Amino acid sequence: MKPLAHLLSSLILALSLIPILKWNALLVLAGGFLIDIDHHFWYVYRYRKINIFKAYKFFIKPMDEKNFKSVAGILLIFHTAEFLLIMLALSYISKIALAFTIGLLLHYALDLCYLYFVARGFVVNHSIIYWIYREKIQKL
Ligand SMILES: [Zn+2]
Repeated sequence: MKPLAHLLSSLILALSLIPILKWNALLVLAGGFLIDIDHHFWYVYRYRKINIFKAYKFFIKPMDEKNFKSVAGILLIFHTAEFLLIMLALSYISKIALAFTIGLLLHYALDLCYLYFVARGFVVNHSIIYWIYREKIQKL
């Protein structure tokens, strides 16, 4: 899902939750939009370059062309089952984490719709453990 869709949907959800969450509604926006910073983390890890504009182009190009070969199997740390489990656990003890996780779940829902209807399958790796396992196997 493109960043603008995440920003607008998270903003609408955050604004609608202000009466309940007060200032913590900002965390809904963070969970729904800012977690895509992990795309940049991957780009820096993979290419050893920190230019965020080149990273943006790197990830937008496959979406525009509907060809996801260049991003197949990559690891986006905040888009993993392990990160979700940590945030769900923290949500039981912290309202701040709960607000963030609400935004995160919206983000995941939009990403899943995109993967299902546009990409037609899981493109990136959704588990840190599985990604590490695959990396080790490939190096043997
Ligand atoms: Zn995403």
